[in-house]
Amino acid sequence: MLSGIKNSSNSKVFARNVTKEDAPFSCPGCRGELTIKKGNIKTHHFAHKPPFNCSRGQGETDAHRKCKEDIFLNLSTRQNVTHLDLEADFGTSVADIFCRIDGIPVAIEIQKSDVTVNQITLRTQNYHLRGINVLWLALYNPKLDEKRYSPKAWEKWCHAAYFGRVYYWINSLTVLPVHFAEYRLDVECSSWYDEYGEEQSAGGYTKRSKRYRAPLVGSQLDIATDFRSTTKDAWSRGTVSVPQCSLYVDRLRKWW
Ligand SMILES: [Zn+2]
Repeated sequence: MLSGIKNSSNSKVFARNVTKEDAPFSCPGCRGELTIKKGNIKTHHFAHKPPFNCSRGQGETDAHRKCKEDIFLNLSTRQNVTHLDLEADFGTSVADIFCRIDGIPVAIEIQKSDVTVNQITLRTQNYHLRGINVLWLALYNPKLDEKRYSPKAWEKWCHAAYFGRVYYWINSLTVLPVHFAEYRLDVECSSWYDEYGEEQSAGGYTKRSKRYRAPLVGSQLDIATDFRSTTKDAWSRGTVSVPQCSLYVDRLRKWW
């Protein structure tokens, strides 16, 4: 986690703005003691002193923290962004970033690699109940440059929720929307002779891959200017089920 409570002032501080001399720090969630990590390479952050039993900061990688900090710092320079808060506590969940963009309440959630569809669904529902629009972001994956891509369950969920796109963070406030089209596999033509000496053949067509999709990249978007709020009705198909939700979506026309 990037923020903690500085005990001497009982105020929320960011790891990048304080030093070890400012300790002790405590967790805004469990009130347990935090250690500050100020390395030269990794994003400055706080970590629970073991033993602890608290989900704050769990599963965060350096890439996740870098993304969170970069988005937060860049949002803080925008005129149309107010109420900006890092790791904003909503009781049932902690939003990576909360702010109002042109007055619209937005929670930005950066996907952790171990997130489950259940967790995404629950958090999305909670934001909806609070009238907050949620923007789920994934970290950019170089495999998206390839012809075929195997989306994980949470990517399929986001694709269904966001009307056929998943948002991947590139840098600063720039995200790339990616649509997953069906990917067709060649079934090669083959022929053989059956027991009566007749030539038989099969194949020579394509079939839809269950595992792979063809990533179709849309134009780059700016989080602070290229999105709008919308409410989506509950939707389900196959194994994917999206509850009624308030989303922060782009304004692009379909590019596929
Ligand atoms: Zn804690």
